[in-house]
Amino acid sequence: MSLKPYVLSLSIAAALTVAGGAQAARFDHLAIAGVAKGLAKQQPAALQADSDDAFEATDVIVDPDGTEHVRMQRSYRGLPVIGGDVVVHSNNGRFREASLTLRGRGRPSLSPRTTADEAQLAAGKDFNGEIESIESRGLVIYARGAKPVLAYEVNVQGASDTFGTANMRYFVDASSGKVLDRWNLFQTIAANGTGKSLLVGNVGIVTNSVSGGYQMIDPSRGNGSVYDAQGKNDTSANLRNATLFTDTDNTWGNNAESDRATVAGDIAYGVSKTWDYYKNVHGRNGIFNDGKGVKSYAHVKINVGGGTYTSNNAAWNGSAMEYGDGGTTWFPLVAVDVAGHEMSHGVTQATAGLAYSGESGGLNEANSDIFGTMVEYYANNGTDAPDYLIGEKIYRSNPNGTTALRYMFKPSLDGASADCWSSSVGSLNVHYSSGVGNHFFYLLAEGAVVPAGFGAGSSANLTAAKLVCNGNTAAGGIGRDAAQKIWYRALTVYMTSNTNYAAARTATLKAAADLYGTTSTQYAGVASAWSAVSVN
Ligand SMILES: [Zn+2]
Repeated sequence: MSLKPYVLSLSIAAALTVAGGAQAARFDHLAIAGVAKGLAKQQPAALQADSDDAFEATDVIVDPDGTEHVRMQRSYRGLPVIGGDVVVHSNNGRFREASLTLRGRGRPSLSPRTTADEAQLAAGKDFNGEIESIESRGLVIYARGAKPVLAYEVNVQGASDTFGTANMRYFVDASSGKVLDRWNLFQTIAANGTGKSLLVGNVGIVTNSVSGGYQMIDPSRGNGSVYDAQGKNDTSANLRNATLFTDTDNTWGNNAESDRATVAGDIAYGVSKTWDYYKNVHGRNGIFNDGKGVKSYAHVKINVGGGTYTSNNAAWNGSAMEYGDGGTTWFPLVAVDVAGHEMSHGVTQATAGLAYSGESGGLNEANSDIFGTMVEYYANNGTDAPDYLIGEKIYRSNPNGTTALRYMFKPSLDGASADCWSSSVGSLNVHYSSGVGNHFFYLLAEGAVVPAGFGAGSSANLTAAKLVCNGNTAAGGIGRDAAQKIWYRALTVYMTSNTNYAAARTATLKAAADLYGTTSTQYAGVASAWSAVSVN
């Protein structure tokens, strides 16, 4: 049979333009549905129907030859029968057959032995995560199993550790109190949107297509999402009340701060590049290597201790990303290297766990600068040319592009960071003791090469000799690819919470030996680069 079915409502629309026959067509629909309901009553065996079952038509399809297909939901004494739905096929009002999965006419007792509250408790426990709402939808007949049973339906929404972003439909046995079944109504459809970003121009971002528009959720990267924290302090209550960015046309922002969604585009872009970097370069599936994306909060004031909240920061808060709006000196802190830096704190947390004080704290910060920079190279965006500066794009005024938060090739250019290891380096703030690690990595990847804009005659006036602590201008220089792989392996396989600079030398040498062998140029490069920052 080769029929071309069409949906009745489409034919109605066509008919409307000719005869204004909307009411007539609607009447047709109702008439067919009414006939099907009558047929259902006459065919209890074919429909596995109890005499107290009732049917409600929800859709009608009519083939060109007049065959009708009426989809119906079933209820039993007023309770929805989950899995009791049926399609009645008829021709000009004569029953042909029925499609259904229900396989019996038995119905359960309608006296529950547990309460709706108990059902909510069971569903909430199974949800296992941060619940935004939980609601009982009353009693149902759950008929998807071997035998229909009386159950409570419970809706739970939030962030589940098991299901990710979730809008869950639960069915809990009204006798035993056990969860019978659950599924996620949050079904993702990746859509390609455009972020009219603040710092990197117009960029492609992946969003989630829903009825009526788009959500800033990336189904292709573990459902990572971007929320608007509305300029509030980052208390957990405020973050809970942050709103997911949504949009009707999937073009986000206007390349300026006047549109709140602009920086959401920058954030989505930075998050996606960081995700892709770890996945494609290191085979790591998300920050926690579990395939799950994290939440990012835009427009947030970050708690920096002492009761102070500031817009002039960005942070990894242990489970999510936070981005402040900046101020007079800085743009919103949404640059790619900042995003990569902060999310790499999450990777450290999930791996080496480098304690955030002393030399291990400096290594933790250096790790974030190293991978933030490698993400910037990976993104390789023309409007944010990759370099070994940290945060250069967030300065509202940076005419030469040489102002930055940190300078990996010569950390002391920031006025506070250490270029070379000394026994007192561990007593510096972790953002300054990181200098030794940043400096090592630069020399390892690039060698003692002075970056453009910092050479003789510039205000930095650097030479190759000024880039090393021991006079060895031939140190390192094994290239970014090998350098980042060695560092990642050292971080994830050998470093532990209390690793200091001497132990980092050992860890990276082990990693280089694993990857390239002890007689390789890469292994020798690791040794010479550490020596060039006085870690021997
Ligand atoms: Zn940091």
